[in-house]
Amino acid sequence: MSLLVICFDPSELSQVAGFGASFGTYDVLLLTGEAGNAGASKIHVANLVEVPPADNIGKSVASVAANYTHVAAVSSMRAKDLMARVAGINQSAMITDVVKVFSETEFERPMVAGSVLARVKAESTPIVMTFRPAGFDKTVPGPNGSVESISISDTGRVKRVSTSARQGGRPDLSQAKFVVSGGRPLKDAATFEQVIGGFADKFGAAVGATRAAVDSGIAPNDLQVGQTGKVVAPDLYIAAGISGSTQHMAGIKDSKLIVAINKDGDAPIFDQADLGIVGDLYEVLPELEKALS
Ligand SMILES: Cc1cc2nc3c(=O)[nH]c(=O)nc-3n(C[C@H](O)[C@H](O)[C@H](O)COP(=O)(O)OP(=O)(O)OC[C@H]3O[C@@H](n4cnc5c(N)ncnc54)[C@H](O)[C@@H]3O)c2cc1C
Repeated sequence: MSLLVICFDPSELSQVAGFGASFGTYDVLLLTGEAGNAGASKIHVANLVEVPPADNIGKSVASVAANYTHVAAVSSMRAKDLMARVAGINQSAMITDVVKVFSETEFERPMVAGSVLARVKAESTPIVMTFRPAGFDKTVPGPNGSVESISISDTGRVKRVSTSARQGGRPDLSQAKFVVSGGRPLKDAATFEQVIGGFADKFGAAVGATRAAVDSGIAPNDLQVGQTGKVVAPDLYIAAGISGSTQHMAGIKDSKLIVAINKDGDAPIFDQADLGIVGDLYEVLPELEKALS
């Protein structure tokens, strides 16, 4: 059994060890940036300036992957984009969002917005996976056994015309340790930014939103958390004015601590939150801010 974990940038290296431990030893392919501790037997450093579109590097990454029995990446949209190509080119199975490893062929993954956990078996090699680091022990990675350069070729057939990042420099939702999210009662974009954004900025938190908030134009689309938005796994998730729909909870269930603020004591989110405050978010958040400061 041999595992290769593909990391898009060095920020993912610290998330590999818990999952990798299920396989004993593992190698890492780092696409951009300099090698850091990943606890890998061998780290292949591709040294790309930026991650090219998945179409351009799929073949090259797939040929490296073919030397292993298992190939994995931290779950993200870009990982699913690339890994689907790696699986397709190698004519192998792909299993997304793995949260548990039972054996070398059997894995657990969530289905139906996280309300069902499926045990699935893959019957082809290499087995291609994405995994959710929150499902595995947080292990501080030791140094790597060896570091080697590797060439990943870019066919250049697809050109990235432009990219735009949202302003504000807030942490990335999918990686953040602390997330503050708001729902429909935030009224409008300015109120959302002031109340939720302002609170988050005081503590260096990422900002999230429900689909109802996004659909009402209160929050931008890329902040949506849930079944059809981003999956988050922070140490602390504060949900302000959020009812707790199945679709929203699917995106936050791996959070270590969920704190709900809702003025309706019967809101479904209180069934799943670790801590609940029944109250008006416009009063509770400023009080909480004072207390935390
Ligand atoms: C196929 C599908 C996919 C979906 N995907 C997603 C998804 O990815 N993410 C997602 O979030 N939703 C998703 N949804 C929508 C989801 O079903 C809910 O409609 C949505 O999550 C509700 O958002 P909300 O909690 O902001 O709004 P509401 O359900 O309207 O709840 C607002 C809550 O705020 C409370 N409240 C009101 N005023 C205050 C106040 N002043 N202070 C404190 N509390 C207050 C209310 O008591 C209520 O509980 C999806 C739906 C479908 C059908």
